[in-house]
Amino acid sequence: MMNKKIAVLPGDGIGPEVMTQALRVLNVIENEFGIKFEKQTCLIGGVAYDETGHPFPEETKKICDEVAAVLFGSIGGPKWADLPSELTPEQGALLPLRKRYGLFANLRPVIVYDGLENASSLKPEFLKGLSILVVRELTGGIYFAEPKSIDGNTAVDTMTYSQSEIERIAHCAFQIAMKRNKKVVSIDKANVLMCSKLWRDIVGKIANEYPEVECSHLYVDNAAMQLVRDPKQFDVILCSNMFGDILSDEAAQLTGSLGMLPSASINGETNFGLYEPAGGSAPDIAGKGIANPLAQILSLALMLRYSFNLEEAAVVIETAVKKTIADGLRTADIMSDGCRQLTTQQMGDEVLKRLN
Ligand code: NAD
Repeated sequence: MMNKKIAVLPGDGIGPEVMTQALRVLNVIENEFGIKFEKQTCLIGGVAYDETGHPFPEETKKICDEVAAVLFGSIGGPKWADLPSELTPEQGALLPLRKRYGLFANLRPVIVYDGLENASSLKPEFLKGLSILVVRELTGGIYFAEPKSIDGNTAVDTMTYSQSEIERIAHCAFQIAMKRNKKVVSIDKANVLMCSKLWRDIVGKIANEYPEVECSHLYVDNAAMQLVRDPKQFDVILCSNMFGDILSDEAAQLTGSLGMLPSASINGETNFGLYEPAGGSAPDIAGKGIANPLAQILSLALMLRYSFNLEEAAVVIETAVKKTIADGLRTADIMSDGCRQLTTQQMGDEVLKRLN
């Protein structure tokens, strides 16, 4: 029987506020689809530090070890920024969490919802109907490889990629592309970097296993340009860790607001996943009841799709969000003329009404 245990980690700042709305949505989905998740809420981040002395307490690790997926809010804030680095919410909890569960595939859907085309700095005609998925390798490459040092006025970073690291993220991208528009653009800098030469070679070989998927390769500098020149040419973008970090933020800007962007970090071999909004704990608006809960609600949809294979339930949630936006309902971060501004809770109410 499938493991239906999930850990709920609301975290700091707006995390608990937006998580409340996602859990209301999950409740309705459970009833509608006749499924039941065993949910355990745990401490993580600054609140965990305040209560236990560590941002990623042993109790939370124990629970996360047993679940199939983690629904994550956000962590961090000025109160904890000056702690020793191993105790900060980001270094002490978020990175160890990703490492502990081998979350090597980061998926970031970049979707421009009808009615939000004007939220970006690009012209609306380039954005209407846009749907891109950035697949970023998350546990390898230059961010992790050794040696890494600063000695006087010389600094060293090392980039390494192994065949198996590239193969597993490439499979992940091609498998997802099979369920979308069957186009993968792989990003590299194969004209300069050895890691990129290997990357291009291996991605090309893996592509042969997916003959229905059209695979092409772009140098990262050209990709950065193409993404703002004609974003609709892309379906799935496959990137190494650093290139994905940069391009996914560039792509995020196409949608106009961080509050709309979900993300999934997955161990593509076990399907264990961590699902969280792309934004942070937004201390500037925390406690005011005005945060946009849609990124958290959409992260829940990704969890149902990728960790539990509940595609239909995921689509019900995504459709409800689309309808809510199309009906002119907005939180402050995406507000525009002629729309109705809602609180976090009211936005949750409106999504709930459209879940059918
Ligand atoms: P942030 O993403 O929290 O906020 C950036 C801006 O976006 C702010 O103006 C904020 O109000 C707005 N925003 C973000 N999410 C929103 C939402 N759902 N609705 C409406 N507006 C939203 O970035 P920051 O201010 O640079 O970082 C704040 C804290 O969050 C820091 O401690 C940072 O380290 C942490 N952080 C955590 C994560 C995570 O938990 N995965 C990710 C990024 C940043």
